Amino acid sequence: MEIIHIAAECYPVAKAGGLGDVVGALPKYQTELGHIAKVVMPMYRTKFLYENQWELVHEGGQHIGSHYFHYSIIREKTNKLGFDLYLVDINGLLDREKVYGYDDDTERFLAFQVAVCDWINKWSHTPDVLHCHDHHTGLIPFMIKYCFEFRDRLAGIPTVFTVHNAQYQGWIGWDKYYYLPAFDSWKWGMLDWDNTINPMASAVKCAWKVTTVSNSYLDELKYAANGLQNLFTYEQGKSQGILNGIDTEVWDPLTDSLIAKNYDKELVAKGKRKNKKELAGKFGLDPDKPLISFIGRLVGEKSADLLPDAISQSIYQHHGHANFLVLGSGNPELEGRLDQMKKQFNGYYNSYIGYDESLSHLIYAGSDFLLMPSRVEPCGLNQMYALRYGTIPMVRNVGGLKDTVTDMGDPQGFGIKFNQASVGDISYSVGRAIDLYTNKPDLYNWMRSHMMTIDHSWNMSAAEYIKVYQGLK
Ligand code: ADP
Repeated sequence: MEIIHIAAECYPVAKAGGLGDVVGALPKYQTELGHIAKVVMPMYRTKFLYENQWELVHEGGQHIGSHYFHYSIIREKTNKLGFDLYLVDINGLLDREKVYGYDDDTERFLAFQVAVCDWINKWSHTPDVLHCHDHHTGLIPFMIKYCFEFRDRLAGIPTVFTVHNAQYQGWIGWDKYYYLPAFDSWKWGMLDWDNTINPMASAVKCAWKVTTVSNSYLDELKYAANGLQNLFTYEQGKSQGILNGIDTEVWDPLTDSLIAKNYDKELVAKGKRKNKKELAGKFGLDPDKPLISFIGRLVGEKSADLLPDAISQSIYQHHGHANFLVLGSGNPELEGRLDQMKKQFNGYYNSYIGYDESLSHLIYAGSDFLLMPSRVEPCGLNQMYALRYGTIPMVRNVGGLKDTVTDMGDPQGFGIKFNQASVGDISYSVGRAIDLYTNKPDLYNWMRSHMMTIDHSWNMSAAEYIKVYQGLK
């Protein structure tokens, strides 16, 4: 089959979170299964662009409203990622360093989607499936069905829409409806949710199939979906949860060049100890105490706002028997608080505020525990990386965390789970972690080597997506 993945992120070209990891890995595994999987994404000005070779494959022009834009499509020449990668260049809109966060994000992603539809409309053949990821590509299922210039050739192409995160929906005021290419106005309801053009809602309505990145998230969306609960309930018949996998080539403690010492499950104790020493040295922490780390966006969804109080309470309550490390960026006020705390808890807590891919690898390798108190977690990749690196996940029982981690109190359990996103639950779990680390070495060692054998590679999920596509013909 020929599958076209359309997304705003793809690792290592541009990544802001888990979406990038998924789009960088899933097509590779689908290619290995014998299919043609391609990725189309915006051409941002990131390092990857300048370090690789490209060829021009198409040029065209389109409009958003009265604004005409010229676009070009380039293809990476050497198949570096293991699949065909296409970038859409639109000067003045997509030529930025960051993926998101600009005032004109609406115009940027609308122009991107229009350009993609226009390009595919010019192909001499049609692909077997368009796989759209998150709201930045959520208007494509509508556009190919109801926009006059696309529907004749493209309306018959099956569309799959994957919800990576339903918190962000890409809302566009109806005053900007004319940004879309002319469409059948009887169908305006397929764009609307609560008197706003809602690309996430539109995709859920118009795509042939909707997937979420874990089973539990699919259930949770029916009662917590940032206003779309009724829609997810209504469309449950065409929805399915498929757990994300991880790229086991990029994330392999035995070959990872970004960590201090490579190791596998046999050498886990020694290997992790060396990485922990390196990390503790960098951050002025004590390598003999259990190290509990947090990696992620500093936003409410991840309960990052609880970290300052949870960390200080844990340090006091457990008499400094654990060390804490935070790597993250996001809410500026929170960034400031987490930075200031360094002085107060010198030797017990440290943080790096910012985005640092290599440091994240060293933290997965060198930490004993990874804390994820998320309020919402559609799938969560961090806990799967932690498992692969023998780092015990401490997670709230939600979404994909619920589906991938079991509590050490259960038979064969290999993690620490808690129910509430609260300072109390986190601090209590820190106590359990300290007890495990200090008093139960046999269980601790068994958990570490057991979790490293769990297969979270893409093999199964990539095949499951293929089954979904095949069911649409
Ligand atoms: P989300 O997509 O909601 O942010 P995921 O758990 O699905 O969460 O994916 C997060 C990804 O982003 C992981 O690969 C994680 O290691 C990475 N990450 C998040 N914040 C940072 C950071 N500050 N520095 C480096 N990597 C980060």
